[in-house]
Amino acid sequence: MKTPPVSRRDILMRGLRVRCPNCGQPGLFRHWFRLRPRCLQCGFKLTRSDGFFLGAMVWNYGLTVFGVLPFILLATILGWLSVTSCIVLCIAAGFIIPCITYPFAWSLWLMSYYLTLPHELPANETELIPTDEDE
Ligand SMILES: [Zn+2]
Repeated sequence: MKTPPVSRRDILMRGLRVRCPNCGQPGLFRHWFRLRPRCLQCGFKLTRSDGFFLGAMVWNYGLTVFGVLPFILLATILGWLSVTSCIVLCIAAGFIIPCITYPFAWSLWLMSYYLTLPHELPANETELIPTDEDE
């Protein structure tokens, strides 16, 4: 089996650097909260269908709940923060962290989707179709 032009390692690195999973170019976002419908460089459709954004929401939720809130809770358990401060910080983090991580959550979602299904990238589609030469 041939190695696809865009390997899983490429997809991983592009996802971590907020770049197009298909061509690796930056500029996925029109502005902080607005994903472009298509990549400016290769025309790759970034939003696949209605509801595709839910994956980015899951990543955003995960980054907040598992990446930030445990540190606030740990600081409270260790006595560095009062319970009231903990509650206020957790509520504030629940609003602020998703805004800060929004583009990164989208990129992680695109990365995880195409890590699972790399053959759905247009750059890989033609390479993975079996031909008579592969036999
Ligand atoms: Zn692209």
